[in-house]
Amino acid sequence: MKRLTRNHLIFAMDKQNQPVLYVDSGERFIVETEDCFSHQIVESDDVLNDNFDYSRVNPATGPIFVNGCQPGNTLKVTIHKIEVESRGVVEVYPGWGPLGNKVEKAETKVVSISEGWAKFGKYLLPLHPMVGVIGVAPAGEAVLCGSPGPHGGNLDTVNLAEGAEIYLPVFVSGAKLALGDIHAIMGDGEICGTGVEIRAEVDIKVEICKSWQLSIPVVKTKESYFFIGSGRTVEDAIYITAEEAVRFIQDRNNLSWTEAYMMASIATDLLFSQVVNPLKTVRIRIPRKIIDE
Ligand code: CA
Ligand code: ZN
Repeated sequence: MKRLTRNHLIFAMDKQNQPVLYVDSGERFIVETEDCFSHQIVESDDVLNDNFDYSRVNPATGPIFVNGCQPGNTLKVTIHKIEVESRGVVEVYPGWGPLGNKVEKAETKVVSISEGWAKFGKYLLPLHPMVGVIGVAPAGEAVLCGSPGPHGGNLDTVNLAEGAEIYLPVFVSGAKLALGDIHAIMGDGEICGTGVEIRAEVDIKVEICKSWQLSIPVVKTKESYFFIGSGRTVEDAIYITAEEAVRFIQDRNNLSWTEAYMMASIATDLLFSQVVNPLKTVRIRIPRKIIDE
């Protein structure tokens, strides 16, 4: 199995980035990921201060060129396994998150990981590793890895966990996939601005999918589809996401638009992914059992 090491980092999803790995559709491989601070914050007295290099936040490993993948295709990425390191960090910073005005100074809490648990002070929390940043090169201008969008990016969505499949619209030849920013655990919304930020090794498979055209990322799990939309405000994100989710219900179930809108209202859930990045991200969970497959 090929392995892409974490010294191949990008800080923007950009069609100009040179691929660092070429893979075929159906290929499974390992990607080593850096944490969102490029490992500059490791101990509790490391904080975002004058010594911190802000140009190295939110790295992603890549880009990975998928042979034969063309604009207009959909790239399916299956997350088989996420192996996190033995410690991660949670950070607060003045201005970050909805209560950022109450944060007086940057502070770091080290969280140790062992045997399926994350230890926060005296509290043991069940590990739930997830991918924060995963995306392809956008069609136009480069997008910093810290921002989410139709191409994926900093989606910070808890369902991007082991066993999940993410479907991404493809804009450039080869797709140019990159990923990083794993969280050992994170809650919906990520309200203080970080999850448990940690280095990891992610075992993934990529496949070219031609039967499904998407305009925003979709995650599929055993039970659900999650349509993931990002916007300048939460309201904008909801509009983008609801529009796509309703269109999907309409198309798959062969309903009128109005019936699909009604079905979305009675049988799907609108959830927050993150409210702390440059664009905000929400998702709509559609139970697979309500979709004709
Ligand atoms: Ca993130
Ligand atoms: Zn993160």
